Amino acid sequence: KVSIFWFRRDLRIEDNHGLFQALSQAEPVLPLFIFDSNILARLPSKKDGRVEFIHESISQLSEMIGRHLCVKQGDPLAIFKELLAEWDVVRIYTNHDYERYGIDRDAAISTLANESGIEFCTFKDQVVFEKDEVLSGAGTPYTVFTPYSRKWKAILAETSLPNFHSSASTNYISDTFTIPSLEDIGFQPSGLVFPQATVADELIKAYGQDRDFPAKPGTSRLSVHLRFGTVSIRALVRQALGKSEVWLNELIWRDFYFNILHHFPHISEKHSFRKEYDRMNWRNNEDEFKAWCEGKTGYPIVDAGMRELNATGFMHNRVRMIVASFLVKHLLIDWRWGEAYFAEKLLDFDFAANNGGWQWAAGSGCDAAPYFRVFNPTLQTQKFDQSLAYIKKWVPELQELTYPAPIVNHEFARVRVLAAYKDALGK
Ligand code: FAD
Repeated sequence: KVSIFWFRRDLRIEDNHGLFQALSQAEPVLPLFIFDSNILARLPSKKDGRVEFIHESISQLSEMIGRHLCVKQGDPLAIFKELLAEWDVVRIYTNHDYERYGIDRDAAISTLANESGIEFCTFKDQVVFEKDEVLSGAGTPYTVFTPYSRKWKAILAETSLPNFHSSASTNYISDTFTIPSLEDIGFQPSGLVFPQATVADELIKAYGQDRDFPAKPGTSRLSVHLRFGTVSIRALVRQALGKSEVWLNELIWRDFYFNILHHFPHISEKHSFRKEYDRMNWRNNEDEFKAWCEGKTGYPIVDAGMRELNATGFMHNRVRMIVASFLVKHLLIDWRWGEAYFAEKLLDFDFAANNGGWQWAAGSGCDAAPYFRVFNPTLQTQKFDQSLAYIKKWVPELQELTYPAPIVNHEFARVRVLAAYKDALGK
């Protein structure tokens, strides 16, 4: 008899809730990772950095636990059918998934397991508080960040944050497995450089002053690790406490958007959080969208951001806000186009945070920037990249004739977008 622990967005041994629960039982644990062919098939490039990151992470995991990690590729339901036929499985353990696809997939596998008398046990791991844990006094979900974060902190103060310590446990099955190579699963190295999985206390302490300046190494760069669970959110919250309220708030924003996704599933169906924004009459000019994607708008801060994204799979948060606002408000292109482009390119792509960020920029989200706030790229540059250090890194031809003229005049675009919003919203 064995139990299975299925790794997904929690690619670590230490402080992994579901794994801890599995290892605490008498039955030896078969640790499992599945390269989900339904997800891989949708990726436009065979050099996808996320696949490479996952591959690297599970290779390390496998070494850490004596090569007992079983790695499969295919449709998870079909793979579980095979595994349940091959092994005498008592329980399947895993951690909660909050995205639409993951919820449906888990429901199908849970049904399959239950039909054979096997328990499907899932645990909260990816967030600090989930689902209905942080509700207003009236029992409703928060849609504004500040009161949400206040309540979040009050609840944290009353509870102790668990540490699911299991790194020393050896309760795995005795079989060992080899991991398929990246090429075996149909992918190639991306050439991207992955950030380290730790953040220094000094950075956290200086975060409040440094975080908005893209030329400074002022943010943690932990987003890809949080995305794939190579760090524990609980460990980071413990590290943040007492050092920086501002950084802690960023971690809470992450929980907040998962909370929004859970309570407002219509955002998974391409709808605006505020449905009246779906009446917007976008221009959706394809040439302009291409210029934005390639970093050729003639607005240096926008172009620098898009080039950073294309070259590294990362973009600084301040610049994400600027390029998103520019696409939606200066070019009047549907935020969903930008959302999809980010989803393709970002190493840290996460549906909840990405959708939240885009709808924030478009004004259509919960607690969003008001529709009439149009970022001025020139003023943003003066404030946050005054020496042009960030811009010059990504747009070295800035002073040359080859650099394109602005794709649209700022003042003209501002007036145009305000009219479009007023039209759609009936203001
Ligand atoms: P730090 O500033 O060090 O913050 C620490 C962690 O807090 C981050 O790693 C991240 O997990 C979380 N965090 C910080 N800001 C936010 C936020 N606004 N919303 C949710 N979580 C946050 N973040 C993603 O993880 N995935 C995305 O797909 C994503 N898409 C975005 C799209 C747009 C248009 C915008 C404006 C923001 C988006 N963000 C997204 C949020 C934010 O830009 C990144 O989390 C951040 O830049 C990552 O850098 P860092 O790890 O150095 O973050």
